[in-house]
Amino acid sequence: MATSSSRRAVIIGGSMSGLFSAAFLRRIGWAVDVFERSPVELVGRGAGITTHPELLEALERSGAGTRDLGIEVPKRITIDRSGRVIGERPLRQILTSWDRLQRLLRATIDPAHYHLGHTFQHVEAKGRGVRVRFAEGRVEHADLLVGGDGIRSGVRAQVAPDVQPIYSGYYIWRGAPNEADLAPETLASIFPYFVFFLPERQQVIGYPISGFNNDLRPGHRRYNFIWYRVGDARTLKDMCVDETGHQHEYSVPPPLIRKDLIAQMRADAERIMPTAFIDCLRNIERPFFTPIYDFSAPRIVFGRVALVGDAASSSRPHMGFGVAKAGGDAQALAQALAAHDDIDAALAAYNAERQPIGERVMLHGRKLGTHLGVDLKTDEDRRMWKLLQEDDAMMDWIAVPNFLAAYR
Ligand SMILES: Cc1cc2nc3c(=O)[nH]c(=O)nc-3n(C[C@H](O)[C@H](O)[C@H](O)COP(=O)(O)OP(=O)(O)OC[C@H]3O[C@@H](n4cnc5c(N)ncnc54)[C@H](O)[C@@H]3O)c2cc1C
Repeated sequence: MATSSSRRAVIIGGSMSGLFSAAFLRRIGWAVDVFERSPVELVGRGAGITTHPELLEALERSGAGTRDLGIEVPKRITIDRSGRVIGERPLRQILTSWDRLQRLLRATIDPAHYHLGHTFQHVEAKGRGVRVRFAEGRVEHADLLVGGDGIRSGVRAQVAPDVQPIYSGYYIWRGAPNEADLAPETLASIFPYFVFFLPERQQVIGYPISGFNNDLRPGHRRYNFIWYRVGDARTLKDMCVDETGHQHEYSVPPPLIRKDLIAQMRADAERIMPTAFIDCLRNIERPFFTPIYDFSAPRIVFGRVALVGDAASSSRPHMGFGVAKAGGDAQALAQALAAHDDIDAALAAYNAERQPIGERVMLHGRKLGTHLGVDLKTDEDRRMWKLLQEDDAMMDWIAVPNFLAAYR
């Protein structure tokens, strides 16, 4: 990449896409500052992240590297209610955690240029660049504003207010029990593998991830547990009433999730799940739910504002590709800026390259989401739904590497 010494970007959001953008822009010689609204260091609540070749490449090229990235599983299995293995696929895949990625990426940026406790409020064109105002009063000037502030992006809300995430009609219960708490049978039967349990209109998926402080030692790891369940908008609205009776708009902070919801969920699990997954759930002290939304913005560049990661497009997590896409967006943005001396021409090239990819990933996520049988509109939806009723097909389609190659 060519370098440019006097150019500056202000980046909103200190998570995956914000940190990737900072790392890649610094590598082409830009000055960068990252502004994150959280007043305290970000933590990922043990969220597991499937990796893809694109993510590994972005980590290497950004300078973050892939040191102690995670745990490699040798295969995928599907089990039935009795715990019997009813399908199997050899597929080596590294499973990592949000916390590990955050740590690797965070180490690429000088702490003096990573600013916690700054909430983006407003951007306006100023000269040939932008003037950015924060809720806390700070004002910054730059050649470029990068919006890496996630699916509910405030930057996008200003430049493209009509673009709104759409609820899929299903949500996930999640959590990550400690390996040390699990029964020997659970450790032997599911812990080493990427595991599916697929009752009608539901998906339970599990895989091992590192433990606290990226501990990869046997005995100190965790098991990422995800349970997809169907729930219409009314159900979701009710679930978003918290323990104190307060109605939240999109989801509820884990400590405030109503106890009756958790009790009901645990009772449902006891009725339908294999023993090993019941064991996982019993050892998750505080399970939490995440409603699944998606969208893709028709444009991801607005003057001197570029959207990256989930702010630009966000897919249902069936491919586990969100962080890989965040890294790819950031890499493409820096490559375009290095290849074009004219910033506006570079941004046009970035938009042309990455907007279609974000849309493609989103549409692919919807295809895989048909498994849950929600809102099947077209013949193709129904064909895909039918195909995915085969457990083997789920192992072939969900979160597999190199899926974008089929569209090239
Ligand atoms: C259930 C689930 C499972 C997933 N599994 C995977 C997986 O296996 N693999 C994978 O690659 N991806 C996965 N993803 C997707 C992945 O988590 C996201 O794609 C990724 O976190 C996007 O990164 P981001 O930096 O763009 O956005 P985010 O991680 O959402 O970060 C946005 C940041 O911006 C900050 N911010 C927001 N507003 C402002 C503001 N006004 N001012 C300043 N800062 C602001 C936020 O505090 C936050 O830190 C999953 C997602 C879900 C929901």
